[in-house]
Amino acid sequence: MSTVLDEVLTANDAYARSFGERASLALPPARRFAILTCMDARLDPAGYAGLREGDAHVIRNAGGRASDDAIRSLVISYKLLGTAEWFVVHHTDCGMEFFTDEVIRGLLASSLETAELGPDGFTDVGAGPGSPEGAYIDWLTIADQQGSVVDDVQRIRDHPLVPDRIAVHGFLYDVRSGRLLEVPDATAVGRAAA
Ligand SMILES: [Zn+2]
Repeated sequence: MSTVLDEVLTANDAYARSFGERASLALPPARRFAILTCMDARLDPAGYAGLREGDAHVIRNAGGRASDDAIRSLVISYKLLGTAEWFVVHHTDCGMEFFTDEVIRGLLASSLETAELGPDGFTDVGAGPGSPEGAYIDWLTIADQQGSVVDDVQRIRDHPLVPDRIAVHGFLYDVRSGRLLEVPDATAVGRAAA
């Protein structure tokens, strides 16, 4: 058995043994909000936002971007499960700042091995072959931290399936301090209609 697999199953066994009242949690999030955030391993939404099981929806992808699929989840979150307030949380030192569509497409076209991140960005060290399929994906990379939060809050706000009663807050999480830093331009855009 792989080490990671073994560790995960051991941890799960301990978790399940002390599961207790979590067995009777309701399906809709009790605190009626959702967080869209990055998959970065340093971010722990339960920790940085004070969540317990059953409290809130957490939607994660690379960058915490308002992709079509993130919006699909947010629409289900309010329409079927009653959330009324959303947070878009990107962060400092995000890996999505370190490449462009052109770069990742080139890396994938040359090799499917893991690339290395150095001072000049990602470079390929592995053997080919790669695949040109990367050209068909919009990677939603980030050129400007604050700007990407504003863009995503704006996209959610303007979406025809998102009602204007839902407030959408925009934040940057600082990976050096653990603090959520508000992006005022994003929150202004995301304000709920009175
Ligand atoms: Zn990130």
